[in-house]
Amino acid sequence: MEQYPQSPLMGQMMSRPLLISAIIEHADRNFGGNEIVSRRVEGDIHRYTYRDCHRRAKQLANALTKLGVKMGERVGTIAWNGYRHLEAYYAISGSGAVLHTINPRLHPEQIAYIANHAEDQYILFDITFLPLVEAFAAQCSSVKGFILMGDADRMLATTTIPNLMCYETLIAENSPDYAWPVFDENAASSLCYTSGTTGNPKGALYSHRSTVLHSYASAMPDSLNVSARDTVLPVVPMFHVNAWGLPYSVPLTGAKMVFPGPALDGKSVYELFEAEQVTFSAGVPTVWLGLLNYMVQNELKFSSFKRTVIGGSACPPAMMKAFQQQHNVEVVHAWGMTEMSPLGTCGTLQSKHLALSAYAQQAILEKQGHAIFGVDMKIVGDDGAELPWDGKTYGNLLVRGPWIISSYFRNEGGDVLVDGWFPTGDVATIDADGYMQITDRSKDVIKSGGEWIGTIDLENIAMSHPAVLQAACIGVAHPKWDERPLLLVVKKPGAEVTREALLAFYEGKIAKFWTPDDIAFIDALPIGATGKILKNKLREQFKDHVLPTA
Ligand code: ADP
Repeated sequence: MEQYPQSPLMGQMMSRPLLISAIIEHADRNFGGNEIVSRRVEGDIHRYTYRDCHRRAKQLANALTKLGVKMGERVGTIAWNGYRHLEAYYAISGSGAVLHTINPRLHPEQIAYIANHAEDQYILFDITFLPLVEAFAAQCSSVKGFILMGDADRMLATTTIPNLMCYETLIAENSPDYAWPVFDENAASSLCYTSGTTGNPKGALYSHRSTVLHSYASAMPDSLNVSARDTVLPVVPMFHVNAWGLPYSVPLTGAKMVFPGPALDGKSVYELFEAEQVTFSAGVPTVWLGLLNYMVQNELKFSSFKRTVIGGSACPPAMMKAFQQQHNVEVVHAWGMTEMSPLGTCGTLQSKHLALSAYAQQAILEKQGHAIFGVDMKIVGDDGAELPWDGKTYGNLLVRGPWIISSYFRNEGGDVLVDGWFPTGDVATIDADGYMQITDRSKDVIKSGGEWIGTIDLENIAMSHPAVLQAACIGVAHPKWDERPLLLVVKKPGAEVTREALLAFYEGKIAKFWTPDDIAFIDALPIGATGKILKNKLREQFKDHVLPTA
């Protein structure tokens, strides 16, 4: 960790450490009666308050202490977004242990790898994941026991899972008298592995300080803009990058929290939005696609939903427009990554933009946004020299800040910083007002005759065609140009468009040499564990695709 010089005159303010336990304590004292509503794995709707959550988190913290969990030790969770998972978030980190959220969409082998790498002492899991836990439990050498997040009547006599305990029994057996320990704010608080499309997953190890600072910054008006008047439904999973920090930023503000549990289909999400009068949500584009399609098919409207943050992969402008124009829902485009806790940028307008035409405003909002305070960005060329913020010059995007990793857990991958900056692996432009736009991930950029072609633009154009549901663009080997773009398209159910018509749709919208050389219509795109299109799979699948000769 970096060391900085001390001034001969230090400030005389209390140096209370920034600890995660303070968030739930604050929520209890100031918003104790505000509700947390969860659709449970059991199928019903569960309701209680921040006060109840705090009490049960302390009971769980006592249980973990009795089980021998010590400060700095890792405790895994494999769970949906729900109240028990929230209790675990606070009990584990608050007691000084490290919450290791595990993505259940990973392969059992990968889960065993990361549980062993993290040296998890216990793993808490939702009953949905029983078969998954049975598949990898025997391979976890450090795990002393598994805790099923349910009532005692859900416990199974016949299971191969060693030392299986019941969450509700542990809670019932333990007192809510527990004083959250006070310790150095730089202590590790939670751990999340990147999905690692190549090589083994690597762990981003967050600290109490980084998490609390990220919570403050992400709740601000030009970030997520969460307040005590909101009802927030995090669609982003708590099993990956701490649901973009919402389990912390929402209790911090006192907003009502609504958890969707395992039911993430359009119908279930819509019904919960309406029943609980949700005002704010956050998720990746693929999830919103399901919801919007369900609403179009059933001619539905939202009655309370006002604002959503979309990120994780580029939000197609067509989706942004559908939310804004058909549903009157404001879309905030955000960018970040696991290594950044995750928030880096959010796209909102400034006063000087309010007089611009709707078209010009839209062009600003479609970018990934400006850095939130705490995140410093720059773009550099391949020689490392900084490039201008002119909205045109693109380069490798680097970031630094107090919630950005300085190295991976157990130093996997060695030194990752370049002169104190973290290379994001993204290629971007930044304009004079500081709005950043991702051109592509550097590994997805198509290199054609010495020029770079960004695939996000090509996909966004395709998705603005009324017959296109999803599109992904990849580079395919070309004898003359090295690589040329191949567009893969999933059509909307019942809709028709030909290859020629879709290619013609690009005319006038983009430089001619950017136009895809070919289009292939497919039934579905491969989606990874974090809801993103797996372009490496597509490249493999289409590596022998023969492009038509012009
Ligand atoms: P994973 O979930 O696969 O572990 P991350 O969530 O950390 O990985 O993914 C971060 C990457 O996702 C970024 O580096 C960027 O390439 C992409 N990404 C995130 N948000 C956006 C966005 N709004 N637009 C374009 N790309 C995005």
